[in-house]
Amino acid sequence: MTICAVSVIAAIMLVTAVLYSRSADKAAAEVRTEARLIAAAVERNGESYLSDIKPGSGIRITWIDARGTVIYDSESDPEQLENHSDREEISEAMEKGEGSSSRYSRTIMKKTVNHAVRLSDGSVIRVSGAFSSMPAHLLKVINPMLLILAAVVLFSALSATGVSRSIVRPINNIDLDHPVSRRSYKELAPLLEKLRSQNIKVSRQMDELQSSREQFSLMTESMTEGLIIADPKLIVLACNSSALKLLGAGSFTKGQSIYALNNSDVFRRCLLDALGGRRSECILRTGEGQREVIASPANSTDMICGLVVFIMDVTEKQELETMRREFTSNVSHELKTPLTTIYGIADMLANGMVKQEDVPQFGDNIRSEAERLINLIGDIVSLSKLDEDSAPRDNENVELYGLAAEVLERLKLSAEEKGVATELSGEKVSVYGSRTILGEVLYNLCDNAIKYNVSGGRLDVKTAHVPRRAIITVSDTGMGIPQEHIGRIFERFYRVDKSRSRRIKGTGLGLSIVKHGVMYHNGTVRVDSEPGKGTVFTVELPVEKRQK
Ligand code: ADP
Repeated sequence: MTICAVSVIAAIMLVTAVLYSRSADKAAAEVRTEARLIAAAVERNGESYLSDIKPGSGIRITWIDARGTVIYDSESDPEQLENHSDREEISEAMEKGEGSSSRYSRTIMKKTVNHAVRLSDGSVIRVSGAFSSMPAHLLKVINPMLLILAAVVLFSALSATGVSRSIVRPINNIDLDHPVSRRSYKELAPLLEKLRSQNIKVSRQMDELQSSREQFSLMTESMTEGLIIADPKLIVLACNSSALKLLGAGSFTKGQSIYALNNSDVFRRCLLDALGGRRSECILRTGEGQREVIASPANSTDMICGLVVFIMDVTEKQELETMRREFTSNVSHELKTPLTTIYGIADMLANGMVKQEDVPQFGDNIRSEAERLINLIGDIVSLSKLDEDSAPRDNENVELYGLAAEVLERLKLSAEEKGVATELSGEKVSVYGSRTILGEVLYNLCDNAIKYNVSGGRLDVKTAHVPRRAIITVSDTGMGIPQEHIGRIFERFYRVDKSRSRRIKGTGLGLSIVKHGVMYHNGTVRVDSEPGKGTVFTVELPVEKRQK
């Protein structure tokens, strides 16, 4: 548009200038011819010629005598006009015969062309013609020029728009997903080919990324441990469902803070420690149990670029740890009590503080406490053997009726002492297992049934074979177990009534041995008891031959 407009303006100015110079030349020639003709006519006819002619518009005729005084002027009163001898064209005509000049008047924006011819008497005829100056000329053509300019600008604007649209259309029509599928400029072919290969590369990389992401999530989702990956601002980047479950968080949305999963002080401190650059661990107590949290910083060069948090369910581990601690302290206590008694009696004997007649009684006490120690150590040994699950055992087919008869035989004396009548009934049934362990199970149940019985009470042992199961029932008519204690009697060192139990010898480990012994054989043990009436222990064992 600009080029067109500039060209049109330049062309118009050039044409105007050429036409102007032509018309100026023409006007000068016309004035010259007219001056010569009028001079010739005045020469012949005198002043009368001048008074007869009527000059055309824009033509002024002046007659000046040889001294420069104006004799005649077609436009003004000669009297009013000053001497003209100093005018350029007049002085030139007086000197050379003819003279010409041109003057420009800014006020009327016109150019005056003068031509003077000397007559034979020395006077001079001057003809002046005025014609438009260059700017005036230009002003005359400005309107059509502007019209042409407007038309040119409009046309060039329309054609520029059309042309640029038609150039851009094939580029706009390029399908960037399939760049070479449509025809376009051949100049763009290398670029589009490059774009196509880049597209293929990007889509392949996206596929790889997606599949590795799926693989990652599949792997982390199958973990029982919780895994959280967070950025340095602790915004969760990845989190498996085990983490949500273990932390007791309901749901998780991407971009959430890790604190939305658990906001406890312990958890916060652990994460902040890890952000400080060192691996940190803590135990979280949630409603569902105890969780071990391990937070490790992920370092890239010398800055921390994120956190990897592992969460494990350690409820069982912690409970076992507590049990182990309690067991150790119970064992120490139970061992210390009889030893203290033995030490005290021995000390008194050594210092001669015991009368001769009391010595047998003190000896009896030492034996009884030593017996208690032996029983305790025996029970601890049995339990620790049962705890060692991996320890190989000699398993065999064990016939339970015969085993129960042997146990009752071993306990015959204590039953008689207590005044408890024993009876064995039922059928022969074999299970595959450890004879020693099953013997201990039966011994502890029958021993308790005698110990916690009343004088004149009964102990009934029954063996039965039901489909795929062997059932041993040990029932007594003893003191029974209050309902609130039944859930705890299988715990190590748990005794129902400490004061009552002190009178009755026991370690508090018997039913623990029963429980673990039955568990070893994949069986179950149940207890039904009514205080004051008696207790029934029912042991169920699978009879299939199993390889342990
Ligand atoms: P203990 O060495 O004290 O007998 P056990 O583990 O064998 O330890 O038994 C735990 C507790 O269960 C006993 O202290 C006793 O109070 C109660 N108990 C066990 N068997 C019987 C039973 N047959 N009748 C009544 N109470 C029993």
